[in-house]
Amino acid sequence: MTSSVVKKKRYYRKNVEFFKLVEKIKLWPSRSGTLHGIKSMTIKGNIAEIITHCNEKFQINNSRHSRAARSLRNKLFFHSCHTCKIPKWKIEKYAGTYVNQNYGSHL
Ligand SMILES: [Zn+2]
Repeated sequence: MTSSVVKKKRYYRKNVEFFKLVEKIKLWPSRSGTLHGIKSMTIKGNIAEIITHCNEKFQINNSRHSRAARSLRNKLFFHSCHTCKIPKWKIEKYAGTYVNQNYGSHL
């Protein structure tokens, strides 16, 4: 009983960390590999709703093992969105900050 509660808690915390990461970097990779800038993000429990600068809406799941979470960690995007006009420094900062952890050798 106790251990299952602990597991649940830990799982929840990881989800929050994923949302926090997205909220912090304010970048979102779409399915097609385009990197968008996030205009606003609303967290509703296990789902977060993202609105990008080009007014696209994305619902993101709680899973840090999702496609998007993997894309963010591995930087699997092909180009940045022209409408969102993500500043170069932001992409560089993102690349510099998050590439170094476990996947640094990829790029
Ligand atoms: Zn965009």
